Amino acid sequence: MFESLSDRLSSIFEGLRGRGALEEKDVTEALREVRVALLEADVALPVAKDFISKVKERAVGAEVLRSVTPGQQVVKIVHDALVDMLGGDADPSLSFATTPPAAIMMVGLQGSGKTTSTAKIALRLQKRDKKRVLMASLDTRRPAAQEQLAILGEQAEVKTLPIIAGQTPRDIAKRAMEAGKLGGFDVVMLDTAGRLSIDEQLMAEVADIHKTTNPVETLLVVDALTGQDAVTTAEKFKERLNITGVVMTRIDGDARGGAALSMRAVTGAPIKFVGVGEKIDALDTFEPERMAGRILGMGDIVSLVEKASQEMDEAKAKKAAKKMAKGEFDMDDLADQFKQMRKMGGMGAILGLMPGMGKMKKMVDQAGGLDDKEIIHQEAIISSMTKQERKKPALMNAKRKKRVAAGSGTSVQEVNKLLKAHRQMADMMKKMGKGGMKGMAKQLGM
Ligand code: GDP
Repeated sequence: MFESLSDRLSSIFEGLRGRGALEEKDVTEALREVRVALLEADVALPVAKDFISKVKERAVGAEVLRSVTPGQQVVKIVHDALVDMLGGDADPSLSFATTPPAAIMMVGLQGSGKTTSTAKIALRLQKRDKKRVLMASLDTRRPAAQEQLAILGEQAEVKTLPIIAGQTPRDIAKRAMEAGKLGGFDVVMLDTAGRLSIDEQLMAEVADIHKTTNPVETLLVVDALTGQDAVTTAEKFKERLNITGVVMTRIDGDARGGAALSMRAVTGAPIKFVGVGEKIDALDTFEPERMAGRILGMGDIVSLVEKASQEMDEAKAKKAAKKMAKGEFDMDDLADQFKQMRKMGGMGAILGLMPGMGKMKKMVDQAGGLDDKEIIHQEAIISSMTKQERKKPALMNAKRKKRVAAGSGTSVQEVNKLLKAHRQMADMMKKMGKGGMKGMAKQLGM
């Protein structure tokens, strides 16, 4: 999905590449194009306007990081604004904060994928979250709607409420909650009736069922393919109901995606799930980060700029890397590393970011116990060493160790630990230098 917007933005930023700084003129020009692209992608006008002004605010005058081009920098700013607009770090999990059974009410227009999504979510809750789920169709209007849910229930192996002909939606809702309670279910999913378009009768009905069942979640199902109409639908539902989340279906077939961009802004509710196909397990949680990356199709640039903005002193890092490769990794280098680590959020943060680095983190922990608080101790130890000792840690005998421990307010044991950690790191650096990442991976048995 979203190919067209992504392509569009790519070519816009191509033009920005290689310029000297983020000047207002450049930014304004680029953002005019972004705005057109957003509108073409079916983003609601007020949402697009708001987006553009936010990006502009962030971009004009922004300091361009040394290692990236202005174009790349703008991409990062647009990316971050997209993530915000898509819902930031919203929690996609559903709430069950009530005495069971918790009611989850599904609302939306006919054909939006409501019944299918009901079964998909029920299956997910049952399989992943180990919830006992009961589904009930309150759709007494559309012929065979209740049977459709029963069939989906059989496929998904999720229980459905037995059908009793002639009951009103309200009666069915009550019966479902009762059955849920008696049967010891955690969740009762209520698939309400849809209409071809929004009318007062439909709104009155869903509002009534909402009042009767007091759901923990009211999920609005919208069809991504309908673009702006989906946004209008969401607006209408929001006027009458407290929508707690949105399920956007047919993401698998959507080339534009503007609706996803507008949805959060318009409803105030996060997109919790996306439907990615007709099959019963074709449901994903909605992840703004991933979606923004996909929209831009520039995940690599974004992470590059992120890394650069971590205040790494590149020249220093390069010099250190060269020395490391030669096995000349002394205590001053180690102290530099500590400083960088603290800047970047500690050892755990760095190693946690790199795939496959869990093992290395464990090794370092075992050798030196380099947790984040201890880093400060270790720095104190290093600064208590003489210049000579820092260059040549092998000089450290018992007497020197005692002196350094006293000087840094630590113990000889801690000094020993640091020296050992340094030796192991220097060793590893040397091997890394020889075999590059491959050599290190081999050494770590990966
Ligand atoms: P309802 O009237 O809102 O209950 O809609 P249905 O659940 O009956 O869905 C209508 C049609 O859309 C069915 O053919 C579904 O298989 C299909 N559908 C639902 N969700 C998705 C989806 O995420 N992707 C695709 N490709 N089809 C979907």
